[in-house]
Amino acid sequence: TIRDLIAARAAQDPGGFALSVQAWAGGRRRYGFADLDRLADRMAGALWAMGLRPGDRLAVFLTNDAGREFMLTALGALALGGVVVALNTRAADTELAANLDLVEPAFLLTDPASAPRFAALAPALRQVVIGAGWPDPEDAPALPYERAISPDALGCLLFTSGTTARPKAVMASQRTMIAAGMCCGAALGLRAGDVYQAGFPLFTSSVLNIAAMSAWVAGAGLVLEGMVDNDERLRLIGAEGTNFYHGVPSVLHFMQQAFDPARHDLSRVRRIASGGAPLPPEVARRLRETWPGADQVQIYGLTESGPAGTVLYPEERAAHPGSIGRAMPHCRIEIVDDAGHPLPPGAEGEIAVTSPAVALGYYRDPQATARAFAGRRVLTGDAGVLDGDGFLSFRDRKKDIINRGGLKIASVAVEQVLYRHPAVKEAAVVAVPHPDLGEDVAAFVVLHDGQGADIAALRAHCARDLADYAVPRKWHFIDALPKNPMGKVLKTDLRDMARG
Ligand code: ATP
Repeated sequence: TIRDLIAARAAQDPGGFALSVQAWAGGRRRYGFADLDRLADRMAGALWAMGLRPGDRLAVFLTNDAGREFMLTALGALALGGVVVALNTRAADTELAANLDLVEPAFLLTDPASAPRFAALAPALRQVVIGAGWPDPEDAPALPYERAISPDALGCLLFTSGTTARPKAVMASQRTMIAAGMCCGAALGLRAGDVYQAGFPLFTSSVLNIAAMSAWVAGAGLVLEGMVDNDERLRLIGAEGTNFYHGVPSVLHFMQQAFDPARHDLSRVRRIASGGAPLPPEVARRLRETWPGADQVQIYGLTESGPAGTVLYPEERAAHPGSIGRAMPHCRIEIVDDAGHPLPPGAEGEIAVTSPAVALGYYRDPQATARAFAGRRVLTGDAGVLDGDGFLSFRDRKKDIINRGGLKIASVAVEQVLYRHPAVKEAAVVAVPHPDLGEDVAAFVVLHDGQGADIAALRAHCARDLADYAVPRKWHFIDALPKNPMGKVLKTDLRDMARG
């Protein structure tokens, strides 16, 4: 279990640096492995006393400025067999309500500013508010709780932007979470004593499953960023002595742009890791020029796979241009046809990942689970090709997802919201290239006769029901959507039109 992992680290290296996080009340806190071990135990006792039991879901709605409260509560919940459910802090009310309906949490942990929003949204939901009722484990006494949990108990539920507008929550067990740390930590090349800084929002699977597990399996320390701008992020690298930085391509891009050698000390950074979206060659080149002492690894994965998948090392890049690398340790990558049968090298098909980090399926959705998961194998919804040496090239997404700076948006979810606007007769949403974020959201709208194109009204309508980053930025008003003879919207044509 995750509790055993931390206890083992604490026994081996009690004072070893484990975690640096932003505290909600201000300032940063640093913890060694023995601290984390003790605080997780105390938090588990406090949560048990509040009524949290094994299998209960604990929803958390906190930004990175409450990284301390998020991590300590999550570790406490995991220690007693609770299930951590991080809610997207950028989601709209309707999305959050749907998430809560699906997971039926026993508690919600949030901050005082967000508490009234949830009181209106889910009046029956019991709230634990930081600064007002949250049992700070650094002050609270140790309390007894039931410790006999299985590593196969559910550890967290992770919302993923699926191909349907209905929310899907990926089920990770404590065992698959630790396995994700084994796969990703080994792939990244993390070592004991490393200071590993991650630029991810708390609500993504990257925080607990990649960052914390990879660091702690390796014996490295994790630095989680607060809600920082790029200047502060760069300063934190110097202040924490970070030697390993991990972010999505857009974060790396903005960081490189904000770098000022007079104020930022990045001399200790030996490796930069990129994942979550394709790393544009131009961004990779500028990172190399700006920080020649740091090499670059790229990883590919998805929430459903742990997110373990493939890794590409710097020395492999030249011989395999455009590749996203080979299978991580403990992972197998296959290209499969529509029936799920493996295809030979050179053939394009769907990427399938098999590994002990693959999640258990979608929560309360056996049909979607059966479609994507088979044992430890998951179909990714991504298209790719393997070469004879096992290097994978990413071709496209089979799933209709837009990747805006690493944050994923289901086109169908945006389309359904647009269809609810009275002026809209038809709507289709596609990805268009964005110079810094990789992709942006473009909407094609056919209006009912007599309706005027009012972008402000459509944007406001979308903002009510969608996360802020999912609201279309580009609008095209057309007379009819291009369709094939079966009536299916031709999104390739729309993408071409948007580019034109
Ligand atoms: P997180 O929950 O932390 O955002 P994630 O980005 O690994 O995790 P998802 O949000 O599930 O996971 O998104 C996974 C999708 O992102 C993949 O299926 C793929 O389409 C895309 N993706 C991830 N890494 C890469 C990469 N290196 N190159 C191209 N596409 C990528």
